[in-house]
Amino acid sequence: EPALGLGWAYFVNNGPYSDFIKEYVDEEEIGTCVGFQALLNMLTKKLKGLRATGMAAVSCACHQLFRGLGLGDLQKGERQCNMDYLFTSSIAGCGLKLVTISYDVGCQWFKKFWDRVQHLPVALEFSLPFMTIHSLVPKFHLQSHVEACHSAFSFNFFRGRGRTDGEGVERNWDGLNGQAPSTSEMLPGGRWDTLDDCCGWANWRKTMGLGAYPLL
Ligand SMILES: [Zn+2]
Repeated sequence: EPALGLGWAYFVNNGPYSDFIKEYVDEEEIGTCVGFQALLNMLTKKLKGLRATGMAAVSCACHQLFRGLGLGDLQKGERQCNMDYLFTSSIAGCGLKLVTISYDVGCQWFKKFWDRVQHLPVALEFSLPFMTIHSLVPKFHLQSHVEACHSAFSFNFFRGRGRTDGEGVERNWDGLNGQAPSTSEMLPGGRWDTLDDCCGWANWRKTMGLGAYPLL
């Protein structure tokens, strides 16, 4: 069952993506300083024989819009190789100079990011010397991190970001989680197309809902 428009909307083209992921078969899930690791382990236990164990998505923390080519399958929980590729893919070619990331395990994922990024595919056009990137943790999630993270990864203390709660990237799952039971039984092509459509709907609804706000 081929996808009708793979790599045209939100899901990355799985060909080059899985070629890159193949190089990291032994990589483990991103470590966490958070106390509920046991719960995470429980959630990722019964995953043998599955083509995808979930999906990751990059979205805008301010407007809560899914970013194009920022979605991809996960094979073994959230690993750095998956998140590095999807994050970079979602901002490739945008000409951004300053990026602040909101991620619930941002404190761990961002470690050695600059070393890893040099091994990303050239096609992702990551302009290393010209971009400033910081990783923070969403405000609600930050409370469950160890104390050493509280100030270092706080939106409240970050210049120009104090009024962003960073939780928009998490709220987006509320709209997509309901698709899991049906899409988990689909073949990959249909699943990607269906989830692309759901993200398009969420973005369209959000854009319409903004109404006149962007003009204020
Ligand atoms: Zn932390």
